[in-house]
Amino acid sequence: MIPTFVFGWPTGKESGDFLALDLGGTNLRVCLVTLQGEGKFEMTQTKYRLTEEQKHDEGQKLFDFCAECLKTFIDTNYTDGEGKSTLKPGETLPLGFTFSYPCVQERIDHGELIRWTKGFGALNTEGRDVAEMFRNSIAKYEIPVTMTAIINDTTGTLIASSYVNPKTKIAVIFGTGCNAAYMENVKDIEKIKSLGIDDKAQMAINCEWGAFDSFEHEHLPRTKYDVTVDETSNKPGEQAFEKLISGRYLGEILRLVICELIDEGVLFLGQDTYKLETPYVFETAFLSLMESDPTDELLMIIGIFTHFFAVETTLAERQFFRALAMLIGRRAARLSACGIAAIVSKMGYLDEGCLVGADGSLYNKYPGFAERVHEGLIDIFGDKGRNIVTHHAEDGSGVGSAIIAAMTKVRRDAGLY
Ligand code: BGC
Ligand code: MG
Repeated sequence: MIPTFVFGWPTGKESGDFLALDLGGTNLRVCLVTLQGEGKFEMTQTKYRLTEEQKHDEGQKLFDFCAECLKTFIDTNYTDGEGKSTLKPGETLPLGFTFSYPCVQERIDHGELIRWTKGFGALNTEGRDVAEMFRNSIAKYEIPVTMTAIINDTTGTLIASSYVNPKTKIAVIFGTGCNAAYMENVKDIEKIKSLGIDDKAQMAINCEWGAFDSFEHEHLPRTKYDVTVDETSNKPGEQAFEKLISGRYLGEILRLVICELIDEGVLFLGQDTYKLETPYVFETAFLSLMESDPTDELLMIIGIFTHFFAVETTLAERQFFRALAMLIGRRAARLSACGIAAIVSKMGYLDEGCLVGADGSLYNKYPGFAERVHEGLIDIFGDKGRNIVTHHAEDGSGVGSAIIAAMTKVRRDAGLY
């Protein structure tokens, strides 16, 4: 439960040009967001792929790469026909840095990385202020930006969704990782009691719920496959809740079941199955495809297994794989419903109802995921569970980051925390 120093909801009137740099689980993205007020915006963006090496090399090198991409983006978007910069001498552009890993924050433009998640492991970064590390890279490449805020993707999603629809009270990311954010009353946040912030203010909380039940494993029932996923990960013991839910792990869980049945001689007898033996080769996108296969013969599942893994399957096996995908996907959705229900209960949102802004590939692409979350909420709350409705959120990591940068500027100009 991390206080974010994002104070209250946006007014919808925030306006101006802002840059956002989004370092998430898979891609690096640079966005230029024009906030037009009245809950409207325009955006241009460029995506850059991160290599596995970059995720595990020196942290400062990762931030240098971020800075290089940012520089290329600015050179492209702020240059006139003659190749001259369109920025005034000395002008800097305000930038929101979306850094979607758990950070302890003392201010909005500060964030000490607690631990890497989602398979990242860049060296000499945990325990350090990543805002400062990134600022060093910005200075090194002499980039005309001022980083005003460092934000989590869930916080960005919360703010961006509320900007366009003020009924949004909670935001959840179901992507490579899984996490949620909500708005809390400052008077109820123990961690910032000593700062003397106005009691009537509100502040967004980054729940980091992916870390729930880490290390002790006292609360969540885990299968032996879950235990293997955990123990063979680069962060054993950590992100216990996330490992049961997020897109990074669901395919791997299914692969482990298949591998066990191969070892027991139940599946693919006499076939060469080495292609299935590499960790993480079975992508979560395959589970989506398997669940959405509309054919009686399950032809899409044939395609996955012959094309990617060079093995033949029987219809019974394909039906079994599909049932397995359904179990894994359904469990992920229902566990997520528990997380949402916890926030709803704590904040007393059940009677009046609320919207939950949700984003990430699992939510957007996995067939039936949202329906299963809603089913879970009804199982928890009864009929009233219908008052809690998830919807596809605005782009929190881009637009949300820009809105927060704008909100921060207003507070700065007014001399507030
Ligand atoms: C991170 C969170 C992030 C989530 C979704 C998790 O692994 O710890 O900070 O919000 O992934 O991207
Ligand atoms: Mg992201």
